[in-house]
Amino acid sequence: CGIVGYIGVPEKIAEHQALDVLLEGLRRLEYRGYDSAGVATVSGGTVQVRKKSGKLANLIGEIEAAPLVPASVGIGHTRWATHGGPTDVNAHPHYGDEGRLAVIHNGIIENFAELKQKLVAAGHVFDSATDTEVAAKLIGQAYRATGDLTEAMRIAVNELEGAFTLLAVHAQAPDRVVAARRNSPLVVGLGEGENFLGSDVSGFIDFTREAVELEQDQIVTITAGEVSIIGFDGVPAQGKRFHIDWDASA
Ligand code: GLU
Repeated sequence: CGIVGYIGVPEKIAEHQALDVLLEGLRRLEYRGYDSAGVATVSGGTVQVRKKSGKLANLIGEIEAAPLVPASVGIGHTRWATHGGPTDVNAHPHYGDEGRLAVIHNGIIENFAELKQKLVAAGHVFDSATDTEVAAKLIGQAYRATGDLTEAMRIAVNELEGAFTLLAVHAQAPDRVVAARRNSPLVVGLGEGENFLGSDVSGFIDFTREAVELEQDQIVTITAGEVSIIGFDGVPAQGKRFHIDWDASA
């Protein structure tokens, strides 16, 4: 029900660790309501995932018990279960590409059942009962074929029907977070030497006031220094730039 993403530079991990930015964003997004929470960060060629049903405090307890290696890139999620009960396994992120890819999702993938059937027939093994994991497996499969996370996202979203904001990170692409939206919100926060993603601006309001709202059926790739947007058709596009001027002292 809430989504955050972050990318900075490895040199600044001491000041801005992805995990801290993500947890702060998730705390700000708590008002949306949720039943589970999770994060994924990329460090040293691996994706690290922690996820837990219940309140954010449960996730934080999980991270304290099994700390993450500090990272400069990651994604975070609070879930409002629609497909599959609110369990640890169904919490996001979900895996693709044999655990090298982590994906989070807000919304509902309407055609997940038929896609899942095809993927299972092709040999994919599913951990969860979510509609989301279908997207994770599709993006993973397309990454295998293209070696390009943006293109992998583009290929996958063209198979999906319904409402979705999707964010993905890959172990072999630690310099970026890729996101897509259809019938579900997504905003980019523009930093200096760092960039942010959120389901709304409260996901990054503590860090920047400059933002870009994605339009319908767009994909954004953020690196520490760049934000680039394309349509689901692959054609370069632009979002709506705006300045956030409300008070967020809460
Ligand atoms: N449909 C997905 C699930 O049930 C995402 C729900 C959400 O928006 O949090 O896991």
